[in-house]
Amino acid sequence: MITKGFFRGFAALAVAVGGFSAASAAELRGIALSANSDSAQVTLDLSDGTTQKLFTLDHPDRVVIDLPHTARASGVHAPSGSGVVSEVRLGPQPHGTLRVVVELRSALPAHTTWGATGQGRRLIVSLGQPIVAAVAEPAPKAVRAAHAVGDGDRDVVIAVDAGHGGDDPGAIGHGGTREKDVTLAIARALAARIDAEGGMRAVLTRDRDQFLELRERIRRAHAYHADMFVSVHADSIADRSVSGASVYVLSGHGASSEAARLLAERENAADLMGGVLEDKGELRPVLLDAAQSEIIGVSATAAERVVIALSSVGEIRRREVQQAGFVVLKSPDMPSMLVETAYISNPAEERRLRSLEQQQRLAEAIADGVRSYFLQNPPDGTRFKQERRTLASAADTSTGATP
Ligand SMILES: [Zn+2]
Repeated sequence: MITKGFFRGFAALAVAVGGFSAASAAELRGIALSANSDSAQVTLDLSDGTTQKLFTLDHPDRVVIDLPHTARASGVHAPSGSGVVSEVRLGPQPHGTLRVVVELRSALPAHTTWGATGQGRRLIVSLGQPIVAAVAEPAPKAVRAAHAVGDGDRDVVIAVDAGHGGDDPGAIGHGGTREKDVTLAIARALAARIDAEGGMRAVLTRDRDQFLELRERIRRAHAYHADMFVSVHADSIADRSVSGASVYVLSGHGASSEAARLLAERENAADLMGGVLEDKGELRPVLLDAAQSEIIGVSATAAERVVIALSSVGEIRRREVQQAGFVVLKSPDMPSMLVETAYISNPAEERRLRSLEQQQRLAEAIADGVRSYFLQNPPDGTRFKQERRTLASAADTSTGATP
């Protein structure tokens, strides 16, 4: 444990470093906490990479992260404490330094990892054992330090979210097929398809018939440092003749159609089925900041790829990516889409949704769409990015002669 005398030394250094410019160069755009009783992870999303200082203090045990030349974006608040973390505080320090204090119920070793997001840099502060192994079942594959800069060949991580589950069956077809069962089957097939693909790795938000709040689905994806979130569903409508797949992204300004609005309302009601107290705010239109608007654009680009891939295996209900206020898509820093794979209310589609073959076909198409997006838009530090760079430099040096 570092003593207070040592802390004063750091403080002096911070002043010295901070002295050369009072202007803020970076912005803290998000802060998230995942914690259980013996470990925690704090994720700081920043507009730009900044040097950071981390030190620990005792009485009470706490970890302090100083971010020089960093300002807090409006609307960013410290998450409330949970598990081993009793409190998180954010406060400006002299010379433009932003200080993050993580107060602990017991002392834990801390280390940091820098990574990239689509829009900036992510600082992951790990306290104690990594928490990622604790969030899903069965035990996930060994988790590598996602977004680690310099580790140039990590896999792109896709969070695959099987809609509904447990007390929430989702839509029920005329033949009795429950949406929660087909979404889980397709999600498992999709995860297997992604894992079979070089450079990509899937994590499932649920791998059994289990009720999960919508926010918990996002939290699990974040705990895995997912690069993308894909929620799998099957739609339902009174008119049994309606069929085909649609892909949705978040909207902050009303839905792209009345049908999309009603669908988002139905999907958002999932939390009520599990007895979760309704947060009325969740159902209101989202107020978007610049980061969220940007991530919706990224999500739509990826969703377009999935629509194209799905159109090759079956009927598409809507060729344009649809938008509505789905709670499960509200990640400010992770491109997210919701795939309505078919209409469970259509008897022919209900039958197909039950077939292993169709589940595989849908999974393959979604995986193809996702891969095609990441080939074009590889995140930093990934194998996709490395391969793209290799290809580009091969093209640069090529003179047309035999290599
Ligand atoms: Zn659904």
